[in-house]
Amino acid sequence: MITKDFQQILQSKNREEMPKVLLAASECAPLSKTGGLADVIGTLPKNLKPMGIDARVITPYHRVIKNKYASQVEHLFHFYVDLGWRHEYAGIEKLELDGIIYYLVDNERYYGHQIYYGGEAEGEQYAFFTRAILDAMPQIDFVPDIVHCNDWHTAMIPMLAKTQYQGKMQENCRYLLSIHNIAFQGKYHFGFVKDIFGIEDRFYSPDYLELDGCADFLKAGCVFADKISTVSPSYAQEIRTPDYSEGLDSILNDRADDLIGILNGIDTDVFSPEKDTYIPTNFDREHLEGKTDCKKSLQERMGLEINPDIPIFAMVTRMTEQKGFDLIQCMLDDFMQTENVQFMLLGSGDERFENYMRAAEGRYRGKLCSYLGYSEETAHLVYAGSDFFLMPSRFEPCGLGQMIAMRYGCIPIVRETGGLRDTVIPYNRFTGKGNGFSFTNFDAWEMRDAMRLAISSYTNKEIMSRLIDNAMQADFGFRRSAEEYVRLYLNMI
Ligand code: ADP
Repeated sequence: MITKDFQQILQSKNREEMPKVLLAASECAPLSKTGGLADVIGTLPKNLKPMGIDARVITPYHRVIKNKYASQVEHLFHFYVDLGWRHEYAGIEKLELDGIIYYLVDNERYYGHQIYYGGEAEGEQYAFFTRAILDAMPQIDFVPDIVHCNDWHTAMIPMLAKTQYQGKMQENCRYLLSIHNIAFQGKYHFGFVKDIFGIEDRFYSPDYLELDGCADFLKAGCVFADKISTVSPSYAQEIRTPDYSEGLDSILNDRADDLIGILNGIDTDVFSPEKDTYIPTNFDREHLEGKTDCKKSLQERMGLEINPDIPIFAMVTRMTEQKGFDLIQCMLDDFMQTENVQFMLLGSGDERFENYMRAAEGRYRGKLCSYLGYSEETAHLVYAGSDFFLMPSRFEPCGLGQMIAMRYGCIPIVRETGGLRDTVIPYNRFTGKGNGFSFTNFDAWEMRDAMRLAISSYTNKEIMSRLIDNAMQADFGFRRSAEEYVRLYLNMI
């Protein structure tokens, strides 16, 4: 639902007054995806369109995109990008999909293998992308009022646009930087950054690029962007403190008036228990029998004991320290040995966590399944078939998993941080309000207590149905987020 005052704002503008937005991002669903960033970039333009905003996406023409969409793209033009001593081909291809226009930057060397190469190779990959965007913009059949940059991969755009490209870009073009995860900043030694971008030495100072003896792409974005957003209100506060900022608290406090937290949403067409084609039986709030079917199917497929009465605790995640895997390691044996529960993990990531979960599967056959890998289809079944969803994150800018889980009546158990704090309301037995369970400190035994509480709720049918109902009712659709982005865009032009 579009709110009333927002409706009035939209009505007061004619179409020409609405800003044109170019979203620049390293990945974008459904074309390419490694995490939540892709989901957001995929969903935002779709939701902006009904609000009268022409938002287009520019993203690398990754191998995965080429494999699937090559026959549908139209070659617009090509040119050569100078990156230090390198002189590299850049093709600009255009793809229209479900009414959204994507510009794809083509270069086999940089985007022929993985989405992220790691290390300096990744710095070069995205320095090329940055330059290609800036060089292509004057030639593209779209003149944006706002370039919406996302994360460190595109965070150098505002600085270069306002220095090296000054006078070459559209006058009055504004630059928004969205921080999806401040832990990734694109930090390199200055020699490397100077070489690829030809940056003047004077910018290598704490006022601009320098942080901890490195040139920092994200810091440059924070200094030069006209506005900065991040993906939840709580995270917008947290990243202004040394504990969460990874060194950027000082610049973010200086820019506090330009910093805003906009909670992400999820694509409710994709994550929809009513019409999901990945799950064996569809269901909704009023007809939960389908969820029982999904649970059976999940247990069957994952080699878990088929029993509707045993609660399944699930995780669908990157396996990293950020996601709280050290807490899982701390209490998993105690949990599996003392409770009548099942544990379902779908994820991939750090080898040590993968090995730990592999070994745990051996110890708890029929009770614990580790599906190590990435599978969209399995993820949907896990959300639909599980009872509880664990997200004990050390920090969480927004988190989509908990919102998706709630949509499928899978109750989240989260650490109160960032977007988890903004979306999960702890269940209150007295008022019947709340949609999940939470704990405050990054502590395995606090998490264990929250899990214990979840189990005791599971045995009480009335509480459990109330929780499921509350969770499934919550509105995490992207429209609300899109509305806030439009307000921000309008504020910028
Ligand atoms: P992050 O972006 O930090 O990884 P989010 O919770 O914001 O975490 O988004 C993660 C997204 O990726 C969700 O849509 C989740 O379902 C999906 N996902 C994570 N791991 C896997 C996996 N192994 N297989 C399928 N989907 C996954």
